[in-house]
Amino acid sequence: MGLQQSDALDVERIREDFPILEREVGDGRPLVYLDNGATTQTPDRVVDAISEYYRTYNANVHRGIHQLSQEASIAYEEAHDAVADFVGADGREEIVFTKNTTEAENLVAYSWGLNELGPGDEVVLTEMEHHSSFVTWQQIAERAGADVKYIPVTDEGTLDMDAAADLVTDDTAMVSAVHVSNTLGTVNPARELADLAHDHDAYVFLDGAQAVPTRPVDVAAIDADFYAFSAHKMAGPTGIGALYGKEEILEEMEPYLYGGGMIRKVSFDETTWNDLPWKFEAGTPSIAQAVGFAEAVEYLEDIGMESVKRHEEHLAAYALDRMAEFDDIEVYGPDDPTDRGGLVSFNLDGVHAHDLASITNDHGVAIRAGDHCTQPLHDKLGVAATARASFYVYNTTDEIDVLLDAMDDARELFA
Ligand code: PLP
Repeated sequence: MGLQQSDALDVERIREDFPILEREVGDGRPLVYLDNGATTQTPDRVVDAISEYYRTYNANVHRGIHQLSQEASIAYEEAHDAVADFVGADGREEIVFTKNTTEAENLVAYSWGLNELGPGDEVVLTEMEHHSSFVTWQQIAERAGADVKYIPVTDEGTLDMDAAADLVTDDTAMVSAVHVSNTLGTVNPARELADLAHDHDAYVFLDGAQAVPTRPVDVAAIDADFYAFSAHKMAGPTGIGALYGKEEILEEMEPYLYGGGMIRKVSFDETTWNDLPWKFEAGTPSIAQAVGFAEAVEYLEDIGMESVKRHEEHLAAYALDRMAEFDDIEVYGPDDPTDRGGLVSFNLDGVHAHDLASITNDHGVAIRAGDHCTQPLHDKLGVAATARASFYVYNTTDEIDVLLDAMDDARELFA
C-alpha cells in the first residue's frame, strides 16, 4: 500500500515506531487501525520504557530508602513534571495521576462536588458530554440536591454559545464541557467557556480526552480550573490518566481516596494530608504506567503537537471529502475540518453501524460502532448508533480509501 503523506508528518517513518501496524487481521488483510478515539497504539519507545522499568528499577515509590525505590520515585515524580509541561501546568503540584479521564471526573465530582454543591446550585453540562462527565455530574448533583442544565448542540454540531450565555448564571457552580467531542469531532471554545464560568464565579472542568492527544493544549491559556485526559489515547499505556487542577483549588479540596501515601501524619485522633499532588494519590500508584506516560508525552513532543493537529485535520478533511461523494453516507458534526478533531462519525443508509463495522473488520479496518458513550447526544441526533473512524499520527489517506472500499461491500451485501 502506497502511503499518502500529509505535509505535516513523515508518516512512513512514524509507522516504523508501531510494529502492531504490520499485523494482518481477519483473512490476511493488513490492519487499518481507525479506532484511535477509543485507544491509540503504543510506540516501541513507550513499551521499551515500561519494560526497562520492570527489568531494572521496579520498586514501590515514596517509601524506600533503598536505591531501586529512589530511582522509581524519581521517575514517578518526574513523570508528573513531563505531563505538567506538556499541558502548560505550573508544576507537578497541579497534576494528579488518576486511572483515566473518568476517574479524574469522579475525583472532582466527589471531592469538590459532593462537598460544595447544594440546593440552588447548578451544574452546566453540554448535550455532547461523554458519559464519564454526563453520568458523574448527573449523579453527584442529584445526591447534593443541585440541578443540571445542558448547553444545546446546534444543527451544525457546535455548541450554542448564545444559549450558554443564558444558561450560565450566578447560580452556576460548575461548567463541565468536553473540549473535543468524541462523537461529533467538534472543537469547543474552551477559553470562552472558562470566561463564561468565571464571569459568574463558577469553575470550569474541561474533558480533554480527545483534545490533548491531537492538538497543543495549554491549560493556563484556557484558564481551566480542571482539565482531564487519558494516556491510552495519546500513545501511552492504559491504566493512567491525569487531572490538572489549579493549585489553590486542589489545596482547598478534600482527598478523594484515603490510605497510604496521601497522608502527612496519622495519629489516633487525627490525620493530616500530604502535599499536592500526593494528597490525591492514595495507595501504590501506577508506576510503570507513569513511566510510559512520560515517554509517550516526550514522543509526541518530538513529533510536535502542531504537526499532529495539522495531520489530524488533513485526514479529517480527506475523509469528509471522500464521504461527500456518496448520497447514502450521513456524516455528523461540523463540515469544516479545521473546526473538528481527527474523527468522523457517520452512518451508511440501510446498514446498521454494527453490521458496517463487522464488514469493515473483514477488510482489516478497525472502526467503532455504537453510541460512543454519548447516548443523550445520539438521542438528540435521532439515531441509536453511529460508526466512527478516528485517526492518529500513523494513519494515511490510503487507509481511508480502504474504509470507503469496504463500505462498497456493505452496500452490495445490504442492497
Ligand atoms: N471523554 C471523552 C471525550 C472520551 O472520548 C473518553 C473515552 O472515550 C472519555 C472521556 C473516557 O476516557 P477513559 O475511558 O480513558 O476514562
